[in-house]
Amino acid sequence: MPYPYRKLDAAGIEAIKSLTSPERVKAGPDILPEYCHDEMPEYGVFPPDLYVEAENTGEVSAVMRYGYDHNIPVVVRGAGTGLAGGSTCKYGGIMLSLMRMNRIFPVDRKNQTITCGPGALLLDVQAAAAAEGLFYPPDPGEKTATIGGNVITNAGGMKAVRYGLTRDFVRCMEAVLPDGSIVNFSSNVVKNTTGYDVKDLVIGSEGTLCILTQVTLKLLPAPKCTCTLVMPFPDLEACADMVPKVLDLPFTPTAIEFVERELLEIVERTLNKPFPVPGGGAVLIVMYDASSPGELEAACDAACDAALESGALDCMIADTPERIASVWEVRGAILEGMKADSVSQEECDVVVPRSAIAEYVKAAKRIALSHGIRVEPCGHAGDGNIHTEMLRDSGMSDEEWKTATHASLTELYDLSKRLGGQLSGEHGIGNGRLEFLEPFLGGRMIRLYKSIKLAFDERLVLNPGKIVEYHA
Ligand SMILES: Cc1cc2nc3c(=O)[nH]c(=O)nc-3n(C[C@H](O)[C@H](O)[C@H](O)COP(=O)(O)OP(=O)(O)OC[C@H]3O[C@@H](n4cnc5c(N)ncnc54)[C@H](O)[C@@H]3O)c2cc1C
Repeated sequence: MPYPYRKLDAAGIEAIKSLTSPERVKAGPDILPEYCHDEMPEYGVFPPDLYVEAENTGEVSAVMRYGYDHNIPVVVRGAGTGLAGGSTCKYGGIMLSLMRMNRIFPVDRKNQTITCGPGALLLDVQAAAAAEGLFYPPDPGEKTATIGGNVITNAGGMKAVRYGLTRDFVRCMEAVLPDGSIVNFSSNVVKNTTGYDVKDLVIGSEGTLCILTQVTLKLLPAPKCTCTLVMPFPDLEACADMVPKVLDLPFTPTAIEFVERELLEIVERTLNKPFPVPGGGAVLIVMYDASSPGELEAACDAACDAALESGALDCMIADTPERIASVWEVRGAILEGMKADSVSQEECDVVVPRSAIAEYVKAAKRIALSHGIRVEPCGHAGDGNIHTEMLRDSGMSDEEWKTATHASLTELYDLSKRLGGQLSGEHGIGNGRLEFLEPFLGGRMIRLYKSIKLAFDERLVLNPGKIVEYHA
């Protein structure tokens, strides 16, 4: 095993500058503090020894090859919006930013695909597709994340209920392996059984197996019309009970999210974003896309009727762009609102079978409260991916917070497992959930994961200490 890693010396820094460009290389105090963590500094603050911005695949390959030859860790950085402590230099070394590799090629209409560099932002890819009357459906909450980050974390998001995950839209990719070789996983074809499906293995590998340097994504025809329903219920449990009823209707919803009123009020108070529907202890937000106004109306009518029969206090139909935006803007600002309203946060990102959503939500609240933690379960109710957000109030000491969150997480992961769920639905393992992975999956599975890691990265130089950990 290659521990301890070598420290980058002055000659190493000069070498990286010559492989890229001196203006795009920063060392020591010139590295901005934001590059020491992602959106969850709770999962580790680690200063890189060197920060490098690559402009093309050749540079990515050269820097990676340098790390491989000299036993220096390399960690890829997209926009740093990850929620798992993934894009951090846990063992020092080089942080390689791909934000400059943001080219978006013209839409390929014959194949209905779009090709882009890893640093292209999700919002720009969505807009480029829309400009051609097409649609890139994956819709994770953070639109300024990079498409490379989305693919390599297999980002989910609101519209997974109907359209699936980022994985379902990846046709092929170019990647750099830890030894610097440049490879292609699949090509722009609809199906492929040419050997092992490595493309699907590296999607969701959180930058531990390879570096994505270009990706081709599948597009769909844009839906003709869309609308959002807001159903306030007396409490979160009633909201959760409604989810299977919506799924049982003969119309596939695009998104089903739930949020407690308390959380909406936090966003209203801290970010001054009013939510358009008053009343109720919690709201269910349901979106439908359709190919005709008649189809949309039928879906909305059926869902509203079912909700009112099940105890909803109201069913507001948002069918203008402004009304729709007023709902989703508040939903999209929840993480920001929680950050403004607490000293720090911990997040449990479990996913449970849809049939177990209500049971999970009820038990999760009990568990966190029994450890004295304010808890706000919210999120992607339609696919059972419940973000169980724990908020730290100012009165809690570091020790109290650590002990209580650890105990809550241990119980919540046990609960998810018992209900047939998984430890993480979309935010991944990174560094933040590493210690919980082996107890969840068992030793045999971790050995398999380690074999996969070694098959790609036998020198353990690419994003070490994430998903799997090796000890010297
Ligand atoms: C407000 C908010 C809402 C969010 N909502 C969602 C949501 O609904 N669904 C969801 O799934 N996530 C969500 N996220 C999490 C985050 O946006 C996603 O994980 C996103 O995919 C990360 O992209 P990034 O460019 O920021 O990657 P980073 O945070 O920079 O990196 C994430 C991981 O990917 C690796 N990586 C990045 N780019 C590459 C590459 N080109 N090649 C190899 N490895 C790479 C990094 O090393 C790291 O391990 C949310 C985050 C925030 C802050």
